[in-house]
Order: sequence, then structure tokens, then C-alpha cells
Amino acid sequence: MTNAAAPLLRLSGISRTFGEGVGAVTVLRDVELEIRRGEMVAIMGPSGSGKSTLMNVLGCLDRATGGRYEIDGHDVASLSDDALAKLRREYFGFIFQRYHLMGHLTAQGNVEVPAVYAGMARAQRSPRSAALLERLGLGKHLSHRPAQMSGGQQQRVSIARALMNGGDIILADEPTGALDSHSGLEVMRILRELHARGHTIILVTHDPGVAAWAQRVIEIADGRVRWDGVNETPRDVDAPTRGGPGDASSSTSTSSASPISFASSPASPSPPASQRHRLARWMSGWPTFSESLAMAWHALASHRLRTGLTMLGIIIGITSVVSLSAIGEGTKRRVLDDIGNIAPNTITVLRGRDFNDDKAAEIRTLLPRDAMLLAAQPYTDSVTAQVGPRTVRMRFGRLDTDAQVHGEGADFMRANGLKLARGRSFDESEIERQAQVALLGENTLRKLMPNGGDPVGKIVLAGSLPLRVIGVVRDRSSMFVSRSLNVYVPWTTVASRLAGQQHLESITVRIVDGHPPAAAEAGIIRALTRAHGRKDFFTFNMDTIVKSISRTSQMLTLLLSFVALISLVVGGIGVMNIMLVSVTERTREIGIRRAIGARRQDILRQFLIEAVLVCLMGGAIGVALSYAIGWLVSTFVPQVAVVFSVNTFAAALACACTIGMLSGWLPARSAARLDPVDALARE
Ligand code: ADP
Ligand code: MG
Repeated sequence: MTNAAAPLLRLSGISRTFGEGVGAVTVLRDVELEIRRGEMVAIMGPSGSGKSTLMNVLGCLDRATGGRYEIDGHDVASLSDDALAKLRREYFGFIFQRYHLMGHLTAQGNVEVPAVYAGMARAQRSPRSAALLERLGLGKHLSHRPAQMSGGQQQRVSIARALMNGGDIILADEPTGALDSHSGLEVMRILRELHARGHTIILVTHDPGVAAWAQRVIEIADGRVRWDGVNETPRDVDAPTRGGPGDASSSTSTSSASPISFASSPASPSPPASQRHRLARWMSGWPTFSESLAMAWHALASHRLRTGLTMLGIIIGITSVVSLSAIGEGTKRRVLDDIGNIAPNTITVLRGRDFNDDKAAEIRTLLPRDAMLLAAQPYTDSVTAQVGPRTVRMRFGRLDTDAQVHGEGADFMRANGLKLARGRSFDESEIERQAQVALLGENTLRKLMPNGGDPVGKIVLAGSLPLRVIGVVRDRSSMFVSRSLNVYVPWTTVASRLAGQQHLESITVRIVDGHPPAAAEAGIIRALTRAHGRKDFFTFNMDTIVKSISRTSQMLTLLLSFVALISLVVGGIGVMNIMLVSVTERTREIGIRRAIGARRQDILRQFLIEAVLVCLMGGAIGVALSYAIGWLVSTFVPQVAVVFSVNTFAAALACACTIGMLSGWLPARSAARLDPVDALARE
């Protein structure tokens, strides 16, 4: 690829105009210039004469508006943005007046950035950067940050960075401009030595004392080359500096001979770049992915407040989504459990048209034979004939209380899904005899016999009717059924001795498990209508209630999730906001990265990864927080159930990731679109 006859850099008729139309400013006009390999050139001129503009064009940070610029015989205008980034990364080394180091990285970290973009492995990178810094007299400052170093030291770090990938062509824009004379001298010595080792040095300065170090001086004024000549007596290195910067590795000393290659492989220092296919290239993106991750982590860790604020939005969003949906889910399950507790799969037959039928009390057609008829049906598990409940004054010794007296059939425990706590239930013969026996609910027992002791065998009074206690029934724990006081008595006893009637008031049928409740309900209605000759009853299906309650609680969960989702979206917008601001704030950093060879996609990836990382961390913290909240709630407010599901976690983290992607995309793209010079120019 090398064209031995062509000069290394050739400008012909180069012009650079800023702006358009009336406001246009032409800074460079018709610049003709040739720079050969291994030269040390000083570009001189007063402030504002266009030196930096020329330097930016030479270093491919900026494109000329007119004329032709060739590097090693290749027209720069024909190169893609990525190819230019590769040129900057692998052949140019920039030294800026204001050093342009990244404040959050150590000296060594700064020096290594160009090698990271070139895809050099960490194992190679870190001894090389350490050696370079060592040679430049910064062996003790490897882990210092720019703020901890003097100007001269920082400038030497930036020289090491320029040499990291070889730095065949060193472009130094006022390298001594911000330094005291001693440090300035040091920097000039280093540049001279690099020149002696074969590097091409292009130096911009307004200071004749600095220009005196070069062998060739080009003077520009008003954007035109005024003078271009040999400096007969260049100032020499009067005292040898330690070692010499170029010694860091053999590759630098031989670098001047290496041809410039424009193949746009992502990592050219690694071998045969040309034969890689897509897949291999994609795979080779992984080491750089882990680099980007490390870089992102570094950037986040060094801006803790900003990172924390960014995360806050996500933390709040994820916490509310996860904990609200856990509470919603818990409530739903609790509701369903409670319903399961209230009754098994039952259908109750009541008199009249519906609950509001005021003539129902006069209907006397619901009889024990109806209960027998229903008991014979194939879908029936168990049946209980019922009278009541009636509110009756219960008495035991000196204590008395109002209780619900239920007249029930022999199978009532099974039909209603009740559990015996103590004693026994009554049987068919006791029902026939209208036996004066009772089972007490636990609440009733506590009211009547607060001092404990075995209630079985004791006599209690229901109104004036004496009943012998034969057992205790466990009360249901449920948020729907209040702490009611229950007494269960044979239905015949209630009917004849308390109510004075022969008919039933309701029949509860428990359906065989797995039998469709709707079909059973239809069967019951058919059978009873035929038996009565008309439909003077209505049915009350527990299953319908269960379904409607669970639908309601599902709606509630949905509503909660929706509210939580809104806060998640608000959090996401917050992240986007801060990322956008951060791009603006970090424009200079982006400029530096682009100048030392980052491609647009490197910048894009860095910002995206940062956003996703912030959101994932926020998501993880949010999940942990909602766990804590769930624990607190279930400890201190036991009525509220909290149920976490793996799905919620997965969804929360996926949400966080998506928000990261979405909210990172815009800022990342606008960061990647910045032109290197524009980005650098902004402070
Ligand atoms: P020097 O480095 O020689 O001091 P510069 O090359 O920085 O000079 O700038 C030369 C002239 O070009 C200055 O007058 C400056 O205002 C103008 N200039 C530089 N960059 C821009 C820009 N992006 N837009 C408009 N004018 C610019
Ligand atoms: Mg300048």
C-alpha cells in the first residue's frame, strides 16, 4: 500500500470555510503543503491565523471544504468515518494544549484508551502503558488521576497516550502553551527524541522559541502559507533525557517504516484482519464488549451522584411495580383462599324468587323430601336441610350472648366444609328424635365459657330451650365472615321447638368435586321444579360468587399494576433526561474519545451500555427494596398478603433493561453523531 514516491501528507488547494452564506468565515485558503515521513515541522503563526484548523484537517478530526488531502497517496475525502477513526487510532497521536485527559481515569487508564479501541488485549496493554509512562518519568504516577498531577505531568501522560498505538504521526497543538518553561522544555525534548526515533512530528505554535526545535518551519497568516523553509540551526537536545520515550516497545522505533493500511477491521493489531468473516468479526466484538462494560462501570462509578439520581427513577419505578403487584397477587390469593374457606363448591336452594322476595317467608313447600331428592342426584356429594339461622339469646350459667342458631341436617359438616374441633356431630336418629343437642362454634364457646374446661356434656340454654353440648365446631378464619357466634342444632329441633314449623328454609347441596357447577345448578332447578310443580325457589351458586370476586380482585391487581407502570415510565423518562444532560456534559470526553480513535459505534455502545447498566442496577436494587417492603408489610400488617413471583422479577428486570435501551438510545445516538472537532471545541 505504501507509495514510496508520495509524501506522507499532501495538501493541495485546501480550504476550510465555517458556516454558509453571508456569515461564512473562510479560515484556510488554498493551502499547499507536503510533509514527508520522519520530518519535524513547526506550523507557526499569530493567534487566530488558522493553525488549529489546519491541524484538525491534518489529523482527520475535521474535513476540508475544498481541495484535496492525501495521506500516503490515499484521498481522505474517499474514506468513511470508521476509516478515519482507524487512521486517528493507529497512525496519529494527538497532543493538545489542554492535555484533554479524562478526569475519571488514572494516568495508565488514559494512556490505554486508544489501545482499548484498537482491540489490544489487557495483558498486552497494561505492561505497554506502564512502560511508556515509566520512560516518560511517570513510573510513580501510574494510578494518579489527572487532577493529582501537574500540567507537565499531564502533558507527558497525553504524550504516552499518543504513543500507545504507535503514534507514527504526532500532531501537537501548542503542546507547551499551558506549561511553565521548565515543563515546556521537557516536552520539547521528548518530541525531539521521538523525531530522532523516526516519528513524524507536526507541531503548532505561536512561539518562535518552540518552533526553533523543528527542522522545518511553516508560517501561516490569514489561512495562507506565508513561508515554508528549513530551519538551518534547530535547537538540539542539550542534555539526554532518561531512556527515551520511544523505547517502550520495539514497535514504536520501527513504526516509521510501517505502511498505512485502510482496511477497516475493528482491531487491526490482531492478526489477519483481511480474512475475517462477519461472524468472526462479530465474535471479536465480545472482548470489546467486556471492555465497554468496564468502561461504562468506570464512568458510572466516577459520577456517583449522577448515577444515583439516574437510578433513583428506576428504583422507584421497579419497587412500585414489584411490590404493588406482589400485594395485588397476595390479595387475590388471600381472597380465593377465603372463598375456599367459606364453603366448598356448594349450591344453596332458598325460597322465593330471590333475596328480595318479601313473600318468601310464607312459602312452605321446601320439605325434607326435597333434600332427599337432591341427595339422590349424581352430582351431589352431600346435602343438608336447613332452618334458620335465627338469632337467639344463649345462656350458660351467668353468662349470656346473642348467637346464630343454625338448624342443620346430619351431613352439615361435610356439606358446608366445616371442621370439628372437639366432641362429635349429631346423627340421623337425633334429627328424627328432635334431640336437644348442640355444637358450639369456637367464638360462642369463648363467650359462654371463657375459663376453658371441657364443654361437652354441659347444658346451655337457647332462649328457654335447654341443649346439651356434644361438640365444638372450628370457626372459619376469613376476611369476609365476621367473628360471628354460631350454634349448630338438628334442624328438626329448631323447626319444632324454636320456629314452630314443619318446612325447611333452605337446602345446601355440596357438588361432587370436578362436576361443572352450572350443570349441577341446572339439574337442581329441574328436579325441584318438577317436584313442586312450579319454581317457587331460587338457587345461590358459590362458584359464581367466587368467579366474580376473583374477577374483581384481578381488576384490582391490574389497576395496581397500571399505576405502578406509570411510575416506571416516569422513572424511564427521568433516566433519559439525565442521560441526555450527561451527553451534553460529557461532550468534551466524547470529543477526546473520537480524537483518539473511537468509532461512532464505540460511543453509541458505551452510552447504551451505561444506560442499560444503570437501569439494571436500579432494577436489582428495586427488587431488593420491594422484598424488604414485602417483608415489612407482611410482618407488621398481617392482613395484607404479599406474594412474590419469579415472573414479576423477570418482568421487572426485563422492564429495567428495556427502559435502559429506550432511554439510552436517543442520548447515545446524539453522542455518537457529534463531530470530533465540535465535541473537542466545547468545554
Ligand atoms: P489558531 O489556532 O491559529 O489560533 P484557529 O484555527 O483556532 O486559530 O482559528 C482560526 C479562525 O477560525 C479564528 O478566527 C476562529 O474564530 C475561526 N474558527 C475556528 N473554528 C471555527 C468554527 N467552528 N466556526 C467558526 N469559526 C471558527
Ligand atoms: Mg489554536
